[in-house]
Amino acid sequence: MASCPIGGAGERPELIKATALNKAFDEVQAVDDVSFTMRAGDVAALLGPSGCGKTTLLRLLAGFERPDSGSIEISGREVAGPDRFVPPEDRGVAMVFQDYALFPHMTVEQNVGYALGRRPDSDRVDSVMRLVGISALGGRRPEELSGGQQQRVALARALAPSPQVVLLDEPFSGLDASMREELRAEVREILLAAGVAAILVTHDQEEALSFANDVAVMNQGRIEQSGPPEEIYGHPASHWVASFLGEIDVLPGEASGGRASCLLGEAEVDPALSGPVDVLIRPESISTSSEGDGHDAIVVDRVYYGHDQLVTLELEGGERVHSRNLGFPACHPGDRLKVSLTGPVTALPRQ
Ligand code: ATP
Repeated sequence: MASCPIGGAGERPELIKATALNKAFDEVQAVDDVSFTMRAGDVAALLGPSGCGKTTLLRLLAGFERPDSGSIEISGREVAGPDRFVPPEDRGVAMVFQDYALFPHMTVEQNVGYALGRRPDSDRVDSVMRLVGISALGGRRPEELSGGQQQRVALARALAPSPQVVLLDEPFSGLDASMREELRAEVREILLAAGVAAILVTHDQEEALSFANDVAVMNQGRIEQSGPPEEIYGHPASHWVASFLGEIDVLPGEASGGRASCLLGEAEVDPALSGPVDVLIRPESISTSSEGDGHDAIVVDRVYYGHDQLVTLELEGGERVHSRNLGFPACHPGDRLKVSLTGPVTALPRQ
């Protein structure tokens, strides 16, 4: 059984323990032998291509699906296992969805209070509305709110019963880019302040890397790799993770004594590797200059993003590599540049 922690260890209480979870729909193994633990204060992102099983895994944790095998403990109590199935409302787990799912006929305050039963504690409603910054909106109905405000209400409603686990299924995808960025930073702070274990499901790589302390990359029902964002991005454990997560160039190389050499030069790699390897290079690790040392290359393409630009370079032997540079000086097809390997790389046994 693979044990795959998402979330850092420490003295904080363990809030989620998933062990060997499996869930199939007919022929499709939606969740395949997934195990992980998370502690209070852990904020994780579950990232993967469409259909890889992200939502099914959240639904198993929330209690909307029963696992075929395996077990789930929430705060040390088994909520799903061979002989046990605790319904969603008794798990201490809250879920926030992309479509907000607010009651249109209720005010903001009533929507938040609804999560607390027939006679909601008004102090708790006030404090959770303050926490997510919607105190001034209590009397409005959902139709009178922006998308970002509605998502805050949904978050307040989720947090009102003081859950220990919060699951967020693409909660920002209905928002425009700037609102999305602003709200996700705020939601991250709110979840950290609440001391819950939170899992965000997203298709968006930037969102996963910037939101979470730990990112789990899922493929075909399995967690392929999990760890801090910089580890996942900087040291992908497989060719698949490397190519799923952002741009990467793969050059043939030779490893020995903790270093690998490839067309662009030498770099430090896992000392356990020796012999033929694939050297995986992110575009941030390749620098360009108009003069000085380096390999001769010609710019064949450039995608300009303002703050940076992704430049495709053809080396003298015809190989193509990518460099991510600041947005100035702007590069243009036909420019002749010097190219050097200046950042970290990852080497994997040659495929
Ligand atoms: P997306 O990012 O597109 O939402 P996902 O990673 O969340 O995808 P899931 O929704 O968990 O993926 O689906 C995993 C697989 O299980 C898919 O092949 C899907 O078609 C299948 N699946 C999910 N729910 C059901 C269901 N209720 N009945 C049949 N098949 C299902």
